[in-house]
Amino acid sequence: MDTKEVALSSPAEGVDYHSYSSVHTFADVCPLQYRFRYVERRPRESVAAAVVFGSAMNAALVGIDEDLVRGRPPGLGRAAEVLRARLEEAYSDGGVPVVSTRGETLEGLYEKGRKLLGCYLEGLAPEEVPVELPRRFTVPLLDGEGRALPRPLLGELDRWVRTADGRVGIGDWKTASSRWTADRLRKDDQATAYLWAAEWILGRRPDFFRYEILLKTARPVVERHVVERTERDRRRFLRKVAEVDKALKSGVFVPNDQSFACATCPFRRACETWQDGG
Ligand code: SF4
Repeated sequence: MDTKEVALSSPAEGVDYHSYSSVHTFADVCPLQYRFRYVERRPRESVAAAVVFGSAMNAALVGIDEDLVRGRPPGLGRAAEVLRARLEEAYSDGGVPVVSTRGETLEGLYEKGRKLLGCYLEGLAPEEVPVELPRRFTVPLLDGEGRALPRPLLGELDRWVRTADGRVGIGDWKTASSRWTADRLRKDDQATAYLWAAEWILGRRPDFFRYEILLKTARPVVERHVVERTERDRRRFLRKVAEVDKALKSGVFVPNDQSFACATCPFRRACETWQDGG
């Protein structure tokens, strides 16, 4: 999931790392939001309900994997408790209000999340087991000539799994309000970035990368999609990172005023006055 917060920068030293989320924020969401979040490390004015939900579901799913790793049957009850605790924590934080364009409430998100966790458990392949391999990583990023870019890639894999026939791959949880299109499944950079990182961890290319998408549709559904990435995808992602490095050097961060993310942007007030020198 791309909802995990990782410390990519220090106020004294600037941006130290890249992550899939930070590159996605710059390239697909809004360069100005990137500046507020990763360069200036401004406190968020608000948090989107979708982000709260994704983060709470992530914690619940980690609990399910921990049960599986220890050979315990994973329980829906325990996972739902984690989900509820995380949602309550976010909704009770008066300093950072939860905002939504869909009128989502704590109770509504909890009910939807509980059903999704049930679907997820039903669809778990019994012959597949989670593997305890390093999930957090810091790996170098290389340019087209094989030279290291100034900042490495930092991140955390959701899960490693081993199949009955001995293949080892990566699973990545996503929560979404609608189905991912074939185009998005083909182009999303998370698979590219995490396959790159996993190769450094395993010492070889993992056998697969799979998105495990938990859909908050009227009837909750979990879809699992194995995707491939090519050498071109890899080069394209690395070039994007190199372009972010150039922006960091130049300090050019233009607002994307028509971004899909503006409605629940955590820096809306700061953005309102950007044209006046903000
Ligand atoms: S409100 Fe929109 S344009 Fe402004 S920083 Fe946020 S995402 Fe960017």
